Amino acid sequence: VKWVYTFGDGKAEGSAGDRNLLGGKGANLAEMASLGLPVPPGFTITTEVCSYYYDHDRSYPIELEAEVRKALAHIASLTGRAFGDPAKPLLVSVRSGARASMPGMMDTVLNLGLNDETVEAIARESGDERFAYDSYRRFIQMYSDVVLGVDHAFFEEILDDTKANFGHDVDTDLTADDWKGVIALYKSKVEEELGEPFPQSPEKQLWGAIGAVFSSWMNARAITYRRLHNIPAAWGTAVSVQAMVFGNMGETSATGVAFTRNPSTGEKKLYGEFLVNAQGEDVVAGIRTPQNITEEARIAAGSDKPSLEKVMPDAFAQFLKIADTLERHYRDMQDLEFTIERGKLWMLQTRSGKRTAKAALKIAVEMAGEGLIGPEEAVLRIDPASLDQLLHPTIDPKAERNIIGIGLPASPGAATGEIVFSSEDAETLKAEGRKVILVRVETSPEDIHGMHAAEGILTTRGGMTSHAAVVARGMGKPCVSGAGSLRVDYRNETMTAAGVTLKKGDIITVDGGTGQVLRGKVPMLQPELSGDFGRIMEWADKTRRMKVRTNAETPADARMAHSFGAEGIGLCRTEHMFFEGERIVAMREMILADTEEGRRTALAKLLPMQRSDFIELFEIMKGLPVTIRLLDPPLHEFLPKTEAEIAEVASAMGVDADRLRERTEALHEFNPMLGHRGCRLAISYPEIAEMQARAIFEAAVEAGKNTGAPVVPEVMVPLVGLKEELDFVKARIDAVAAEVTEEAGIKIDYLVGTMIELPRAAIRAHEIAEAAEFFSFGTNDLTQTTFGISRDDAASFLSVYQRKGIIERDPFVSLDLDGVGELVKLAAERGRSTRPAIKLGICGEHGGDPASIAFCEETGLDYVSCSPFRVPIARLAAAQAAI
Ligand code: ADP
Ligand code: MG
Ligand code: MG
Repeated sequence: VKWVYTFGDGKAEGSAGDRNLLGGKGANLAEMASLGLPVPPGFTITTEVCSYYYDHDRSYPIELEAEVRKALAHIASLTGRAFGDPAKPLLVSVRSGARASMPGMMDTVLNLGLNDETVEAIARESGDERFAYDSYRRFIQMYSDVVLGVDHAFFEEILDDTKANFGHDVDTDLTADDWKGVIALYKSKVEEELGEPFPQSPEKQLWGAIGAVFSSWMNARAITYRRLHNIPAAWGTAVSVQAMVFGNMGETSATGVAFTRNPSTGEKKLYGEFLVNAQGEDVVAGIRTPQNITEEARIAAGSDKPSLEKVMPDAFAQFLKIADTLERHYRDMQDLEFTIERGKLWMLQTRSGKRTAKAALKIAVEMAGEGLIGPEEAVLRIDPASLDQLLHPTIDPKAERNIIGIGLPASPGAATGEIVFSSEDAETLKAEGRKVILVRVETSPEDIHGMHAAEGILTTRGGMTSHAAVVARGMGKPCVSGAGSLRVDYRNETMTAAGVTLKKGDIITVDGGTGQVLRGKVPMLQPELSGDFGRIMEWADKTRRMKVRTNAETPADARMAHSFGAEGIGLCRTEHMFFEGERIVAMREMILADTEEGRRTALAKLLPMQRSDFIELFEIMKGLPVTIRLLDPPLHEFLPKTEAEIAEVASAMGVDADRLRERTEALHEFNPMLGHRGCRLAISYPEIAEMQARAIFEAAVEAGKNTGAPVVPEVMVPLVGLKEELDFVKARIDAVAAEVTEEAGIKIDYLVGTMIELPRAAIRAHEIAEAAEFFSFGTNDLTQTTFGISRDDAASFLSVYQRKGIIERDPFVSLDLDGVGELVKLAAERGRSTRPAIKLGICGEHGGDPASIAFCEETGLDYVSCSPFRVPIARLAAAQAAI
């Protein structure tokens, strides 16, 4: 096995393809060297050494020492410098580099090889004693901190004392002699802390640093980072050792970072910053304000500090050319690190640059236009989840922000409006054409209509999975939840925040992207859905196999989803329709009726309302498939809960409060999630399902006439576990269909199918498929019933599970492939064994999660269905899954 790979002087033993072996940094250094770019020579110790190190009780392969010695000789032959040489000493940096960039690893050590003797040589050679001793003290401080584990606070204290003693304000005031004094104090501090002197031997320094890089792979920060980003511990890190070049050798030297295109807008313009007479991380550390690289950027920024283009035109011209070479070579926007030593340019790093969602779209589309990549590659380059940022208005980054409170960024986008404290007010004002922000302590299902009417939602209690947060995300409304420092007073209709009291009608802005609550109206940027976004979507649509539908029950949602490209409705939850306006009254009347007769009377009032809902949905969807789920939740959800509510409802309905309370109590269940719900309701009260079926079929006839596009409704029976359950309900649906056909004199095409959301249903899918013409995987419930956990209660322990490494991801967010996913696969196979052409879809929250969508593609589902604002994400993710 070869453990060490060298690079430099136009040659390298590895290349960019060796990322797994050499780490990202090492592989790209090798690649740049092979391209003939000016890269200080060096070598990379492979990730396999890291694995060996941990497999062998933290020891190295026997050959390593000799290979490192040979590699150092290689650097010596190219630079004419050697470790510890009293005339021309070699100094190196020791850099860590995993396959994926990983903060949390050991920091880079610069200037390694300096000691009491070599520092003098460097001083002589550079003719700059101050530079030499400044470098030496930096080295001692850095090495002691990251390799020897001596707290850097000690060094800062010494430096502060020295400055105070000599009356200096800033580091640059210190002379060479001052630094010598500081160095003496540093060294004695190290000796005092460690019981041995600061290592003077460059070899010893080097092995100390190499050991520190490998050890840092298993430090707590790195382990946490890997867990959060799903990086396996087995990958290991590489160590790159590279000859130093100095950006801090006076006014003709500099160091900087640059992106080959603008990382926030995507514009094809080099964008970067540099500092004259500085080393390494001074640019990002923010000690001095960096200068712009190009003259154009300097002018745009209104900076009076000269650009690199102006101060070092030759190095700048060479850098421009290299940036272009690298971008073409890697066919992606690059993030570059460089140093200029006395006018000579050196490249120290290249990698694909991080970018905003907007920039990612622009860069992908433009690179495809330039022929650098193809459309499929362009589609693969976009992170689907990042599209969420683009679909909502956002606060203009240049706007002034008067922040009065901060909560959780529960649903992206920003919105401005008048404060209202009740859903009723929200609806009333909205009807007058005013824009409102609904402010509640928390929201409940009764607030749905208010949330719909509002531009944005603000709650003072509740987390990222609170009712407000979940519903707002589903609606695509900006939401800030749990803004605990705000006090809401419903009685006086005021909200107190940061010492100011705001009344109903006052204007606020909520920023669901940051969680900020702002006073007044703030300028916004509107989403741009055409242009680059539209182009990528067009390419994605050409590539994907699965259809993308939406979960929607209101016309507003359906319209929005349709405009985002939804190809039908995968889930229309009818219960939401019963909360609105006077419907809830008829619904309660139905629930309170003692007889079937009484229930039918109340249901007759609901029928026209349901029918008109469906007509509207069918018309919006213009012949695209619409799946309607029969009533699912337990009836008690429709009844008032508190005594005050009971009294109010009783008087409104003209019924006895006791009677209402009795019925509420009778309907109470210990585990409503596992209770009298789903098809169980339709079996106990078939008249409910019959009313709904009638509304669906009559609406289909009507909408078909109105639009000329025949409607084929898909009637979905929830929570089926037994084939007999579906048989029973289907018989009722079919009977109603026959009646409506008869009455209308038109043949109605429709499908009857079921949700697969119980493990039993998945296991008996071949039987259920005898009756079901489609399956829709209700993975929210299926996750609950497979794990035996309730989503509403799980938040408290799932986060503990994640922290303790029991589970990696919340199974309600990303499908549990091994358990729930296995059931989905099994049900798909068994369902197809009975009915090869059975339509298969998914309608849980997972339908909008890219990882889960990839699974759906693999399982061969026909479509995914997700909330309207996730439709573009799903279109892109489905395309990526198909490539
Ligand atoms: P990070 O991964 O944190 O960026 P790097 O290993 O890239 O760490 O190094 C940190 C800084 O030190 C960068 O600015 C880099 O350009 C600089 N640097 C690294 N090696 C050398 C070297 N041999 N000569 C000069 N500067 C270097
Ligand atoms: Mg770097
Ligand atoms: Mg369900």
